[in-house]
Amino acid sequence: MSPAQPAALPLLSLVVPVYYEEECIAQFIAETGAVLASLPLRHEYVFVDDGSTDQTVAIIKEHARTNPAIRLVELSYNHGKQAAVTAGIAHAKGDYLLYMDPDLQDPPTEIPHFVTELEKGYDLVFGIRREKMDGPLNKLMSSVFWGTLDRFTGLAIPKGLAVMRIFTRRFADQFLQYPEQNRFIEGIFMHIGLKRSTLLIEQRERFAGTSKFNFSRKMNLAFDAIFDFSEKPLKAAVKFGAFLSIAASIFLVGILLAKLFLIEFQAGWPSLIGAIVLGTGIQLFFVGIVAIYIGRIYRETKRRPLFSVKEVTNGVSAPVLH
Ligand code: UDP
Ligand code: MG
Repeated sequence: MSPAQPAALPLLSLVVPVYYEEECIAQFIAETGAVLASLPLRHEYVFVDDGSTDQTVAIIKEHARTNPAIRLVELSYNHGKQAAVTAGIAHAKGDYLLYMDPDLQDPPTEIPHFVTELEKGYDLVFGIRREKMDGPLNKLMSSVFWGTLDRFTGLAIPKGLAVMRIFTRRFADQFLQYPEQNRFIEGIFMHIGLKRSTLLIEQRERFAGTSKFNFSRKMNLAFDAIFDFSEKPLKAAVKFGAFLSIAASIFLVGILLAKLFLIEFQAGWPSLIGAIVLGTGIQLFFVGIVAIYIGRIYRETKRRPLFSVKEVTNGVSAPVLH
């Protein structure tokens, strides 16, 4: 915050994870800066560098030299977006926290609308994309993803979520109480359950650079989402296992009766082997599901820090979160 900003006004923190975004930073600061200057708020930027080795850090530091409202938290290596956002929220001092990406897909001109909506008395305002700019394949994938998620977790996450969202200090403090290592942010946001609203916003193309979320990263996110917020796969495994056992028992009793009453029947080796292989496959599948949960329990019990900070520019390191 610069000295020109009166202290009584609420402080707005822009929480911005950055990972190889050198082409976007200057434009991002210019566009958001223009909007923020027109708002009756103090503001700060909390950039979290997630281990980029391009010019991202240098460019932000250059801006930070002349603008004390720009803070930079450098993580020691690439932690992933979820941890970077968490680090940003942990370091933000604001009364209001607005989380956005630096690629300008969500236009900064929406910031005042978010503030207005939040000040109506909500703790969280989610941005919803007025229209999606994704290609048909991405659209299909994301509708399968969110649909499955809804079915498994019952979190009722609003459809068409944009990245941009604003929330209160109270909400941020709650968020930071969530200790999980596997952090599905949207899930945690819904789980916090304070009063929330949504805001329709415009979408633009990424200003520059490319998306860091390829298919495998998206699959990982889907995994986190389902396995962290749902025990349904476990229950399904138990139910299906019980069903198979009962069916197999009935079948075996049938064979025994057939033998007892000397009914002739053809021994079907191929089908027997088929059944064994099928049975083994199904068992492996469900043991695998259980193993995924055990792996997660293992990860959680280690209680490792959620992020590790290399350096903070224009600020101090926040306490380590476990
Ligand atoms: N990001 C990050 N760590 C990562 C990958 C991405 O902090 O390991 C940041 C990235 O800099 C961007 C945001 O997460 O600010 C979203 O990434 P991107 O725009 O590439 O994803 P998309 O908008 O395509 O979902
Ligand atoms: Mg993006």
